[in-house]
Amino acid sequence: MIHTFLRNAFGVGAQYQYERTEYLQGGVQFYLSLKDEALLCPQCGCMDDVIRKGRRYRSLQSVPIGLKTVYLVSEVARCRCQVCELIFEVHPPLPGRRCAIRANSKS
Ligand SMILES: [Zn+2]
Repeated sequence: MIHTFLRNAFGVGAQYQYERTEYLQGGVQFYLSLKDEALLCPQCGCMDDVIRKGRRYRSLQSVPIGLKTVYLVSEVARCRCQVCELIFEVHPPLPGRRCAIRANSKS
């Protein structure tokens, strides 16, 4: 259900799955991990023989919920294709909302 919410509210793509939520001072972070089906070799198109070598996360500010700043923290998977031995990173695009209308909190 939360994934439906993330998809509808923030445009999170189907390649991501919801992992967890962390609450910060004045903000909330939704952690998203990549589904295995998103791990495709860009060179030979192989999916079955792609293994994960590691992961990191990147954070993207999204549209706020009320006064809470929302960050989508998405996985960047480092992968290796067993077929063609290519090492690559998978990070499907997330919609950036960097120019979203901000609530002015000075008043
Ligand atoms: Zn390959």
